[in-house]
Amino acid sequence: MIKKYYLLSPGPTPVPEQALSVAAEPIIHHRTPEFSAIFMEVIEGLKYVFETKEDVFILTSSGSGAMETAVINTLNAGDKVITINGGKFGERWGKICRAYGIEVKEIMLEWGDLFTKEQLADELKSNPGIKAVFATLSETSSGTVYDIQGYGEVVAQTEAILAVDGISGLGATPCPMDDWKVDIMTAGSQKSFMIPPGLAYIAFSPKAWNLVEKSTLPKFYFDAKAYKKNLEKKTTPWTPAVSLIIQQKKSLDIIRSIGLEKLFEHHRILGDTTRAGAKAIGLELLSKNPGNILTAIKVPAGIDGVKLVKTMQGKYMAYIAGGQDPYKGKIFRIAHLGYMGGFDIITALSALEMTLSELGYEFEHGGSLKAAEAVLKENWE
Ligand SMILES: *Cc1c(COP(=O)(O)O)cnc(C)c1O
Repeated sequence: MIKKYYLLSPGPTPVPEQALSVAAEPIIHHRTPEFSAIFMEVIEGLKYVFETKEDVFILTSSGSGAMETAVINTLNAGDKVITINGGKFGERWGKICRAYGIEVKEIMLEWGDLFTKEQLADELKSNPGIKAVFATLSETSSGTVYDIQGYGEVVAQTEAILAVDGISGLGATPCPMDDWKVDIMTAGSQKSFMIPPGLAYIAFSPKAWNLVEKSTLPKFYFDAKAYKKNLEKKTTPWTPAVSLIIQQKKSLDIIRSIGLEKLFEHHRILGDTTRAGAKAIGLELLSKNPGNILTAIKVPAGIDGVKLVKTMQGKYMAYIAGGQDPYKGKIFRIAHLGYMGGFDIITALSALEMTLSELGYEFEHGGSLKAAEAVLKENWE
């Protein structure tokens, strides 16, 4: 049998053919009006997805580079910040801050648990002098979506800024930067922006720019002021990843032609489909507030979770993701972001059923497919 490769992971994600093919076109020079025109169209498209009137900067790095950019451009050594750690990526905010001598008040959550805006307000009250709050829109390690709108309301009433890791969530679940009073928003190209890994995106509110002016942490490649100055000249401070930016133009054309509202609804349907499928065969979700970006599912008792992921990937070529850190072998994650359609979920569930029956889990065969198909059918238009 030809073993076809199915990418079902929460980054990198599948890329539409129109965006794949332009990567093969001859490279154009980046200091030309021709490139600048494409570059500025991409900036406009990013502003559309960020839902902001602020500048969005394009960095040549993976998503974590935008996170580091957020920290080093706004803070000074010894500053106090709050980080919300509900998983691997919330934890990363703390790691970056500590690397630069920032004092971190880390909120440790069980993976999949919520953190309310009231809890955040209490933390801000009992920790005076906090300069920034670092949160995650969609915690990819647990499949949880957090209340960024609520955090924005709370943080806006203080001196602090709110920095959000929107790397897996932006473009898949609502998070309008300006309306929700987010001061720094970050995103990455290989998640819902439908292109390969390699670019990161970041925008600053006027309140965040105020801190940029006073920040003394060391920076060079990721100096936001250099990006701002160059954007005024329709370019980047360093050589941009020309092909990726041209690919991003293609995918943003697709995103804009669908429209954000429709895209959120698309992800909602894929999320509902996956959840219905999992539940129909007796599986439980990890998250108390599962997002529509990916679904983290608990490995049923008595089943070897590491073997489950290995079988899905190695035997069936269905590249779902396993659990990370304390959840390795305990959960697995089916992604539904980026360029994915309803039948990609059917593929994932079918490979899952074949794997589970091989590992000795008892369930009604075809049950997840039946439930998933029902959701797709009901929502198909
Ligand atoms: C993918 C991801 C990142 C960044 O990862 P990179 O490997 O640096 O691109 C950060 N946060 C979240 C929530 C992510 O999903």
